[in-house]
Amino acid sequence: MFDIDRAVDENMEGLVRDIKRLVAHYSVQGEPSEGKPFGDGPAEAVAEAEKIASELGFVTKNYDNYALTAEMGEGESLVGIIGHLDVVPVGEGWEHDPFSGEIVDGVMYGRGVTDDKGPSLAALYAMKIVRDSGLPVTKRVRFLFGANEETGMKGVAHYKEIEGEFDCGFTPDASFPLIFGEKGNYNARFFGETSREGAKVGIKYFSGGMAANVVCDRASLYAEMNGYAGELKKRFAAYAKENDMGYTVREDEDDLVLTLQGVSAHASTPELGKNAISHMMRFVAGEKLFSCPFAEGYDRVIGLSYTGENCGVAISDVYGPLTFNVGIIGTNMDGTYATIDIRYPITTGDFRVYSDRMKEVFAESGLTLTETRIGPSLFIDPESPLVKKLYEAYVKGTGDTVNKPVTIGGGTYAKAFKNVVAFGPEFPGKEYNIHMNDEFMPLETLRTALKTYVYAIMALLEI
Ligand SMILES: [Zn+2]
Repeated sequence: MFDIDRAVDENMEGLVRDIKRLVAHYSVQGEPSEGKPFGDGPAEAVAEAEKIASELGFVTKNYDNYALTAEMGEGESLVGIIGHLDVVPVGEGWEHDPFSGEIVDGVMYGRGVTDDKGPSLAALYAMKIVRDSGLPVTKRVRFLFGANEETGMKGVAHYKEIEGEFDCGFTPDASFPLIFGEKGNYNARFFGETSREGAKVGIKYFSGGMAANVVCDRASLYAEMNGYAGELKKRFAAYAKENDMGYTVREDEDDLVLTLQGVSAHASTPELGKNAISHMMRFVAGEKLFSCPFAEGYDRVIGLSYTGENCGVAISDVYGPLTFNVGIIGTNMDGTYATIDIRYPITTGDFRVYSDRMKEVFAESGLTLTETRIGPSLFIDPESPLVKKLYEAYVKGTGDTVNKPVTIGGGTYAKAFKNVVAFGPEFPGKEYNIHMNDEFMPLETLRTALKTYVYAIMALLEI
C-alpha cells in the first residue's frame, strides 16, 4: 500500500539538499558564449540539474543549454511539468546569504528557493515518489527545465521547436490552487532627449533598475554641478523626505550623483513597490535648474501611476486591471531610454489597439516608443479535465476547499503551451519575497507542495 505521507517525509532531506545545490549557482542571464546561450550562470544551473536528475534515476537530455529534460514512464501520451532554472538578479540589502539556501526556524532563504528552483525540484521529487510507489506509470512524464524564463521564454521555445507540445501538464511556478488565466504581456522601450542646450545644470546620464519585469528600487542621476550642488542637494533631500524614500548624494569628481531608493516588486504587482525611476523623473521634471525633455515627458505620460491612466491604457476586466511598470532607465548616445512592462487584462483581445494609441500619446510628449514584444493572454476552460483534476489534487494535498482556481498578471511557462496551467507552489495571501530581497520558502510549504505534486502526477496519469 502506497503511504504518501511516509514517502514525502523520506524524500524531504534529499529535496532540501538538492535545492541548496541549485541555489548555489547564480543563474541570472549573462553574456552568451559558445554553447551557453544565456551565459555561464544558467549553463551551470543546467549542469547541476542534470546531475541531480540523473542521480534520481531519470533519463536526461540537454537541449544545448537552452533547456533540460528528465523523463520517466512509457506510453504514447506525454505529460509535461515545466519549471525554470534562471533567476532574477540579487539586489542589495539581503539579510540572508542569497546563495546558500540557509534554513532559519524552518524557513529556507535564497534566490530561487520559491522562483523557481525549489518548486521545480519538488515536482521532480514528486515524479520520483510516483515512480517508486509501484503504481503503474502508463504515460511518459517529462520534466522540462527552461534556462530562460525571467528574461524571455527562449529556453522552452528552443525545446518546443525540437519536441513540440505536451498532451497536458502544469508548471510549478506561481500560486495554488491553480491558475487558468494569465494576463497578456506587452514590452516596449522609449527614448527622449536627456538635457536641453543651455540648461543651468546639464544632466549627463541616468541609471537604474535591473530587469524590465521588476519595479526599479534604485535610480541615479549624474549631473554637472555648475555651482548649484548645495541647492540641488537640499531640494533633492526635501523631495526624498516628502515621499518617504531613502536617498544618497555624493560628489564624484565634477559630477553630482543623486540616488533615490524605492521598493522593488514584481512587475505584475507594481502597486506593492515604489518605483525609484518614476520618482526621479518627478523630481527632475519639477526642478528648474534642469531642463530634461525625457523626464518632463515621462512625468506627463506615466507619472507615478502603475495603471497607465495618463497614457490612455488604464483598462480592466473581471479578472483585474492593466498594470504598468518601468523597470530600467539608462542613457546612451541617442539619449535616455527606459523599459515598459505592461500586463493587460485576460479578455482584452488584441492589445495593439491600445498600444498604438499609447505610442501617439508618447510622441505628443516628445518620447519615441518602440515595441519589443506583444504576448497573448492565456485562458484554459475552468471546466476542462486538466483544471478539474489538478484542483482535486490540490484539495487532497492541502485539505483546503476554500480557495478556488484564479487568474494572474504574471506570465508563466503555461503560455508557451496549449494545455498547461500554472499550479503552485505559493499559497494564496502568503508572501515569499519573490524577485525581492530575502526570497524564502517555508519547509512546511515545500512539503505540502511536494505532496500535492505527487497527487497531481497521479491524477494526470489518469486523464
Ligand atoms: Zn518563475
